[in-house]
Amino acid sequence: MPRPAACLPALARGALLACLTLASSCVAASQDLAAPTPEALARAWSEEHVPLPPAPLVTHALVEAQVARLVRESGGLVASEVLGESVEGRRIHHLTIGRGSKAVLLWSQMHGDEPTATSALFDLGHWLVRHRSEPVVARLLDTLTLHVVPMLNPDGAERYQRRNAQGIDINRDALHLQTPEGRLLKALRDRVEPVIGFNLHNQNWRTSVGTPPQPAAISLLAVAYDEARSEDARRQLTKRACAVIVEALQPFAAGRIGRYDDAFEVRAFGDNITKWGTGVVLIETGPWPGPDPDRALVQMNFVAIVTALDAIASGRVMQADPDTYERLPENDGNLFHTIVRGGTVLAGTGVAPFLADVGLAGSRVVRQGPGGRTLQWQGSIADLGDLRVYGALESIDATGAFVSPAYSSAVAGAEVTIPAGTAAGATPKVQIGAPARLWILRGTSTPGRYRLERVVELR
Ligand SMILES: [Zn+2]
Repeated sequence: MPRPAACLPALARGALLACLTLASSCVAASQDLAAPTPEALARAWSEEHVPLPPAPLVTHALVEAQVARLVRESGGLVASEVLGESVEGRRIHHLTIGRGSKAVLLWSQMHGDEPTATSALFDLGHWLVRHRSEPVVARLLDTLTLHVVPMLNPDGAERYQRRNAQGIDINRDALHLQTPEGRLLKALRDRVEPVIGFNLHNQNWRTSVGTPPQPAAISLLAVAYDEARSEDARRQLTKRACAVIVEALQPFAAGRIGRYDDAFEVRAFGDNITKWGTGVVLIETGPWPGPDPDRALVQMNFVAIVTALDAIASGRVMQADPDTYERLPENDGNLFHTIVRGGTVLAGTGVAPFLADVGLAGSRVVRQGPGGRTLQWQGSIADLGDLRVYGALESIDATGAFVSPAYSSAVAGAEVTIPAGTAAGATPKVQIGAPARLWILRGTSTPGRYRLERVVELR
């Protein structure tokens, strides 16, 4: 089987980039192997992924167990070390996978409440181990050495919060280096001198892309290294890697892939790691509809990362068209979780009924209860009026119906009355900031009585 290893004997980073850039003969030979298709990777993920809880419920303890399991089952392919400790003394793990001369750095959960890629990285590790003898995977393992930090901010993850235990946003600490987590990331980069890095995050559930607005399932950024957003070999490579990812995700998320703002952020790790010599691809996982969004989002992360790594290993990345990335629409914030459209609002505030769309928005929170961690939506009424220019994970047509606050725990099909004179007191209302629980009602032949068609709440 043709292997690219011959072109890469212990070259310096610059020469490695040149090897990628010049599409040398060894790279051309390795391209004879067909790349895995996104559909085949998605299928493999469905059949083989690690059965973890929904991504927000994956704890540091689970990450530690998964690190140990992956190393144990890898037959020597995966090694792990403890990079160091978080502020509160939690171990930060570094996995090394592969034997190639090109180092690739992937880090996830630098923000504690941005967990999707953490699960995908374990799926990547197990997939590589399981398929190691297949030519495409062998090529990847012979060409690349992956350096994986699955959870950089375990203290934040424990609290399901963005910041670390000092209250610092690690991704704004690349210059001051006052966080132990940030120092460990920089030290690892400096030690392994990766040819490319993948900075893996989640973006909030209001993030939209395109017109009309769609959920921005994945947003990509070939990270800038200066104010002028200059382009050099590093950035050409990351733009091409982003293009590869866009193509890979078309079967699953066409119209739902956006480009993240590429303004230079002087304090951020992606920007500084690029400046220090390693081009960085930022993958931001966003909103997805349905009752089990994590499944689709982890799967897409897996497909995106495997495809990008294969393209880098084969050299195929250099054939990707950067315009495929450049042409992506930029992200926006025009998404609601739910919009109830076209109903007559019985607001409960004392005002006369009026026609309005009602937009519900919120975020997912992790609660620590007696039975363990649970994942819940926390949201409110975020907008009222003509919301036709906005998108939603779910749009509900309430044309000809009434929309009121949910006054009780009545269920769909029940006959209900609306309390009179509710302008004062603690009764629920349809107003900005009020809890995201609504009734959709149809009038009945009895004045003042309604049939409860649907209870709407974030879930
Ligand atoms: Zn983030």
